[in-house]
Amino acid sequence: MPSRPLSRSRASTIARRATLLTAALALLGLSACGNRSETSRSSTRTTGLQRLVPSNPMMVGYPRMSLPMSSAGAATMPAEEVACRRALKRMGVAYQDLQPINDGGSCRIDYPVKLMGFSGNIEMKPAATLTCDMALAFATWTKDELAPNARSRYWSGVKTIHQGSSYSCRRIAGTTVASEHSKGNALDVMRIELKNGRDIKVQKQGLFAFRARGLLNTVRADGCSYFTTVLGPGYNADHADHFHFDIKERRNGYRACR
Ligand SMILES: [Zn+2]
Repeated sequence: MPSRPLSRSRASTIARRATLLTAALALLGLSACGNRSETSRSSTRTTGLQRLVPSNPMMVGYPRMSLPMSSAGAATMPAEEVACRRALKRMGVAYQDLQPINDGGSCRIDYPVKLMGFSGNIEMKPAATLTCDMALAFATWTKDELAPNARSRYWSGVKTIHQGSSYSCRRIAGTTVASEHSKGNALDVMRIELKNGRDIKVQKQGLFAFRARGLLNTVRADGCSYFTTVLGPGYNADHADHFHFDIKERRNGYRACR
């Protein structure tokens, strides 16, 4: 019977057309939704931009890192950041809140502080840009280790801590790993100037420089209780002339003190 196969093929053709039509409608529908959502998204983006554009004289002056944080930013600060600042104040630390830093990738600090000095008239030169946690760790080490050690070994207070690098958007030398400096969690100490005029450079000391060697070795070793990474002269050529302290978070609470 020739009629049967014919009608069956016609029926299947109609069915195929219907399927195609449904598919086409579905596609149209999807793309319309896509367009609509794209439009609404881009219009939101434009409004967002327009809201940001009105010229803010504070934003023009570069570098913005020296700009104090707006009171609006301070109002939305997380509780742990507020607590950290309270601890800094209790310790008599001289600091200032800065505008958020975001230089892309891991280079950002949401609530940076500018660390300028510590109780006992100890200055930080130049002022360091850090997370509050790192500023607090460093202030505690200065108060509980550096200052008492300088007093007991040199009978002198610390006048100035000379730092070489705080926040800095960069990688660990020779690797692709972002340095803790890029998160504001690291500080490099180059030199410690005492109130009696002594200047102690962070470097391998001569055989007979007992006091300087004693001071540097002690504060470096004690640093492991305050920071999770302590590197310095003797570790590698990159650290021959400074201490690197950071508070990198590691699994299992591992500390790198070398
Ligand atoms: Zn460093």
